[in-house]
Amino acid sequence: MSEPKLEDIVSLCKRRGFIYQGSEVYGGLSGTWDYGPLGVALKRNILNLWWKTFVEDRDDMYGVDAAILMNQKVWQASGHTDTFTDPLVECSQCHGRFREDKIDTSKCPTCGTKDSFGPAKQFNMMFETTVGPVADETSISYLRPETAQGIFTNFKNIVDSFSPDLPFGIAQQGKAFRNEISPRDFVFRSREFEQMEVEYFVDPDNWEAEFEKWVSDIEAFLETLGLPKDKIHNLEVPEDDRAHYSKRTIDVEFDFPHGRDELLGLAYRTDFDLMNIQNNSGKKMEYRMKDGSKTFVPHVIEPSFGVERAIMAVLTSAYTEDEVNGESRMYLKLPEHLAPVRMAVSPLVKNKPELVAKAREVYEALKKKHGNVMWDDNGNIGKRYRRQDEIGTPECVVIDFQTLEDDTVTIRNRDTTEQTRVAVSDLV
Ligand code: ATP
Repeated sequence: MSEPKLEDIVSLCKRRGFIYQGSEVYGGLSGTWDYGPLGVALKRNILNLWWKTFVEDRDDMYGVDAAILMNQKVWQASGHTDTFTDPLVECSQCHGRFREDKIDTSKCPTCGTKDSFGPAKQFNMMFETTVGPVADETSISYLRPETAQGIFTNFKNIVDSFSPDLPFGIAQQGKAFRNEISPRDFVFRSREFEQMEVEYFVDPDNWEAEFEKWVSDIEAFLETLGLPKDKIHNLEVPEDDRAHYSKRTIDVEFDFPHGRDELLGLAYRTDFDLMNIQNNSGKKMEYRMKDGSKTFVPHVIEPSFGVERAIMAVLTSAYTEDEVNGESRMYLKLPEHLAPVRMAVSPLVKNKPELVAKAREVYEALKKKHGNVMWDDNGNIGKRYRRQDEIGTPECVVIDFQTLEDDTVTIRNRDTTEQTRVAVSDLV
């Protein structure tokens, strides 16, 4: 089977109500995307699965939901105001602006002019805003470019409120904003996106073993997203390319339709972040071991994942084309726990009131059980199946004339297209 192209994914997302361009009626706003009903459901399923896996199912994790706007001192201390930059180049001919490390600068990708780029300028990617009615130096704030700082700034609060045993982690999900020079590849590089991050606090003497555990925890999580192993590649980032404070970083890459690229990052950040806070706030960020053996500023391992990239990887992996009765068909082979619609229910025909009434009864019962069940009586049955295949609904339930006689329905399986008869009582 051929791999889906980026256009296939984009067009499916728009056609079926997963993801639309942001502000589309006004010509759009570059780098922003709006989620439709099915996209919201898929995104929530991924967020919830991550939260369940890394927070609810573990004893060593604490969830937070910090404010997006933070005191400007946070971003000064973390180094973001000075160094959260990308190299920007501008074409002297067409004035197109690009990220230097993402293009071949010998020729402008837009107008084709050769050697039209001067030296790169450092462009800060944070969106600046002012807080309160007076706009001056002291009221400057930023839309957070990562959720991580909202975790670090709450480290002391969590230690004081919960006295956790070390190692422990603090997790957060939420929006992040980066004024990317060239947003591209659908939602892969957006200006507004959502992160799922953990800061895992460890004893520096033991960071290597903890890091290895995270490598395998991430691997297991990616499997539950239905991503095939052969599309995932752990890239050990060489020392020269790592942040100066990081002693080890793995970029987990995925074979996206646009090429192999970063899905998520796993970094050992030493005590860089907590030390910065301690030095700049004057507040101690130390942790005292419960047995009193030592007191120290914990080191940190950070798995950092973007939901948009997870969605792209999930859709790419699920996108499947096959042939049914000599006709080509496209379906999303989504894992059942991620599918936006768990089941679709319909009466075989719409113009028989007793059939419709019975179908509504089955629908209500299934909806009560699963929640995400869709009523779908649009078009003929063949069209309904195709539509549900395209959005990845694992099963379609049809109420027909036999149902009225023996209270059985047909269930049609998305992947095999096989239909079986089951009793309504078994189903609900
Ligand atoms: P890249 O090199 O692709 O710009 P990065 O290394 O700057 O990414 P991090 O700062 O490590 O990214 O961010 C952690 C995670 O957040 C990334 O692995 C990715 O999943 C997600 N992410 C970062 N930037 C974006 C973006 N512009 N759009 C969507 N997701 C993003």
